[in-house]
Amino acid sequence: METMKALVYERPGACSIRELPMPVCGEDEVIIKVMAASICKGADRRHHTTGHKLGRYPITTGHEFAGYIYKIGGAVKGWNIGDRVTADNAVPCGKCYFCKREMYTHCVDFQSVGHSIPGGFAQYVKVKDNSLFKIPDTIPFNEACMTEPVACCIHAMDRLDVKFGEDVLVFGAGPNGMILAQLLKHSNANQVVCLAPTQSKLDVLNGYGVDTILMDRKDPEIHKKAVFERFPYGVDAIVDATGSASVLPDCFQLLKKQGRLLQFSSTKDDENITINPAYFYRNELQYYTSYCQVHEFGRAVDAIASGKVRLDKLVTRLYTLEQFPQAIEDVLDHSVLKLVIRPNGMED
Ligand SMILES: [Zn+2]
Ligand SMILES: [Zn+2]
Repeated sequence: METMKALVYERPGACSIRELPMPVCGEDEVIIKVMAASICKGADRRHHTTGHKLGRYPITTGHEFAGYIYKIGGAVKGWNIGDRVTADNAVPCGKCYFCKREMYTHCVDFQSVGHSIPGGFAQYVKVKDNSLFKIPDTIPFNEACMTEPVACCIHAMDRLDVKFGEDVLVFGAGPNGMILAQLLKHSNANQVVCLAPTQSKLDVLNGYGVDTILMDRKDPEIHKKAVFERFPYGVDAIVDATGSASVLPDCFQLLKKQGRLLQFSSTKDDENITINPAYFYRNELQYYTSYCQVHEFGRAVDAIASGKVRLDKLVTRLYTLEQFPQAIEDVLDHSVLKLVIRPNGMED
């Protein structure tokens, strides 16, 4: 029997590398030889701690991956063995109340490769042919695996719907904050500024042509002052990509009248904030969110291929599959951006 190495979470927090049977390729499916699979600090840490709400354990996680087509099902047309690809991990049912209204993110039977269907932290992953996207030769696998976070950020761009001339702040310079800041830089926005407390990350963004302000972890008044010096009336929109609920109340104070705050990153389930409705009322403010992507992979590949979103400086470190338990701990280090698992060696 043909086997492969794969990461398996027996239950939340309990992972090991196992020898599993090779996936069996169905008629409308392909098997991808995974060359790169990146760790998502939000979702993959949830599998490693409390569990992910989409998780069906035991499960091979990894929803951000890219590689070569290795095997093709009998009914699959238009693809060849050896094609460089990534795959949309989101599998909405297509039949429920929300799917029929094109609100796929809220599908009542939402499945996801890497959460409920075996994912990319393995040497091989099986996907449906209709989820495949071709990766141009100019995008290395270590960046192509980040198509999924770029797709999630494009969903946020649609939600934010920046009007011409608006000033926008991005809070947080993790991988998602960096992708959002670059997408905004190429949007209708007038000025785009990213705020984060780690100078080395802001340096990367400066290199990508995005303006930044260093956040002071201890005294928010310092960076608030810097924002108001640049935007005396506040900004039209803020995207929060910190994943920390404690940042949100300060963000509200930086909004212009009729401004809006889009929360991109998930905060912890038990984190609450207090807001003053009278302040929201008087200033006609909005607070809303952006959850995961569905059907945004095409535009995400295009944004990477065109260079509008640059990912080259986002890869902090590469790991073998066996090193996953170390990598999932290293992701907590503040200086880390993306950690990439290479299940089939370091060479493309
Ligand atoms: Zn992700
Ligand atoms: Zn559905």
